[in-house]
Amino acid sequence: TFSLGPRNSTWNKDRKVWLRKNPQFPNYVNGRPRILLVTGSRPNPCDNAVGDHYLLKAVKNKIDYCRIHGIEIVYNMAHLDKEMAGYWAKLPLIRRLMLSHPEVEWIWWMDSDALFTDMVFEIPLTKYKDYNLVIHGYQDLLFEQKSWIALNTGSFLFRNCQWSLDLLEAWAPMGPKGPIRDEAGKILTANLKGRPAFEADDQSALIYLLITQKDQWMNRVFVENSYYLHGFWEGLVDRYEEMIEKYHPGLGDERWPFVTHFVGCKPCGSYGDYPVERCLKNMERAFNFADNQILNLYGFRHRGLVSPNIKIIRNETVPPLVIVDQFDIRHSMRQGS
Ligand code: UDP
Ligand code: MN
Repeated sequence: TFSLGPRNSTWNKDRKVWLRKNPQFPNYVNGRPRILLVTGSRPNPCDNAVGDHYLLKAVKNKIDYCRIHGIEIVYNMAHLDKEMAGYWAKLPLIRRLMLSHPEVEWIWWMDSDALFTDMVFEIPLTKYKDYNLVIHGYQDLLFEQKSWIALNTGSFLFRNCQWSLDLLEAWAPMGPKGPIRDEAGKILTANLKGRPAFEADDQSALIYLLITQKDQWMNRVFVENSYYLHGFWEGLVDRYEEMIEKYHPGLGDERWPFVTHFVGCKPCGSYGDYPVERCLKNMERAFNFADNQILNLYGFRHRGLVSPNIKIIRNETVPPLVIVDQFDIRHSMRQGS
């Protein structure tokens, strides 16, 4: 069957030796695991120019979050394996990055159509010390309902270790484009509740793997739903004004969602499940909702959630460093923790 590359069975040991030999590249910095956020988009321009504009906004949003939280970022536009094109492209990419960045402890995949909407919230990594995969979802939807939306592969974290390489390898065989992917799609539709008939996708394949090989994998998989590591956009985007009125960033859950993911929207390609106008309007709202949290430090905010224009919210009357102490997200985080 298909393989992502030469099998490696000594990664844990090899990586440990490498880390010992390269103390200038530690996998923990100031007691915190080094995280690499990985995202990307297709090699070619979008069919529609506005799609490229929203890809740019989506990456600006990720750069802002990562800068504030000391996370490194990779944007990939290449297909490392031509058989694994489209949503499967993340698998060979994650594997390659793991092997090329032994200093990275966690690789965090995030779809291009997912935006950070809580710029303060941080992933509670200590909670995951005994786990190697952290993914948003619901145990009952997974094992009782066998639902095709039990997990979401738009935002998840893999620990850099042998287990993760093995899981990627076990996950990949339904991926190759053409008859393999088409036939695998039929198996997935036959076995997963609610799945429409289409070629095998990475999300369904992961769900199917974890259901059919539960004992082998689940003891290292953390199914997270106490905050929105992935948050489905439909239930969130109409409530931003209410959130602003009642709550504040840093909560990460339905009160102030960490991530808003535009599942089913395709502003770049064709054939989304929703009208493209509705998708674009709400991406704009999500972007501005998040961007206000960034602009706050500089004394500005957007005129409204659908406006790219901004207005001044603070005059420069107080000494700059007082503003820094009060409004820099990194300062309030340190004080708060
Ligand atoms: N993607 C990529 N290269 C591609 C196609 C997709 O890196 O050639 C990434 C992109 O970040 C995208 C994700 O894979 O958000 C999922 O693919 P797709 O957009 O087709 O699915 P959706 O996000 O709509 O579920
Ligand atoms: Mn997506």
